Amino acid sequence: SSIIEFKHVNKYYGKLHALKDINLKIEEGQVVSIIGPSGSGKSTLIRTMNGLEPINSGQLIVTGYDLANRKTNINKIRKNVGMVFQHFNLYNNHTVLENITLAPKIVLKRPDAENKKIAMELLERVGMADKADSYPRQLSGGQEQRVAIARSLAMRPKVILFDEPTSALDPEMIQDVLDIMKYVADQGITMVVVTHEMGFARKVSNRLIFFDQGHILEDRDPVEFFKHP
Ligand code: ADP
Ligand code: ADP
Repeated sequence: SSIIEFKHVNKYYGKLHALKDINLKIEEGQVVSIIGPSGSGKSTLIRTMNGLEPINSGQLIVTGYDLANRKTNINKIRKNVGMVFQHFNLYNNHTVLENITLAPKIVLKRPDAENKKIAMELLERVGMADKADSYPRQLSGGQEQRVAIARSLAMRPKVILFDEPTSALDPEMIQDVLDIMKYVADQGITMVVVTHEMGFARKVSNRLIFFDQGHILEDRDPVEFFKHP
């Protein structure tokens, strides 16, 4: 069964119809790239998947929880669904290590020793172990984004949503972040990625969704698409 399922989902900002009758099933382990013009609703689409944006009608089931039901506890969904933002959103008053240990400590009640061990392994994995005691303002954008990805992995989520994760980075930082995203994909974590990076869309993702004016224009296998666009 699908890990994410939209059934006739609509979303409005006042009179603006941002998501128009979305029907979409994403299977466990899929890596989905979402591509489309600015203002087409891509960010809104992924922000509905962890309840950052409420929907107005339809059904949206994510990791077994119904986001359209007011009784659903959003925190349960956010345990399963991580998010990586364009502008990193690290906690600026906390060190890199604390950024990673905070949520698992509070939300998962993970014991400190284990929590620190997992965090340090992840920092090692993203090449940031030597910055564990630094603060976000001491890092480059690319470094901040590597920490943000490690932070989301520390929760051991089933799904990670990425909202233009490389768009705010200097060009020379982009590849490092894309390499880490490939590592995340290789772990079998379901990924939904709003991106302009065609290399990522082609080589890492296994599904390509073209979004325009609030709906899905095309839903293609990237290998097929890049052969016959
Ligand atoms: P994209 O990610 O494709 O650039 P967005 O999802 O950010 O598109 O935006 C889709 C449309 O919804 C745009 O017209 C945008 O201006 C509008 N929009 C996005 N967020 C809000 C908001 N919080 N309030 C009002 N309108 C919004
Ligand atoms: P980003 O692409 O980094 O999300 P945006 O400028 O698209 O940046 O949006 C920044 C914030 O402003 C988001 O929370 C978005 O929902 C909100 N927003 C975007 N468009 C509008 C809009 N037309 N009216 C009100 N809020 C908006």
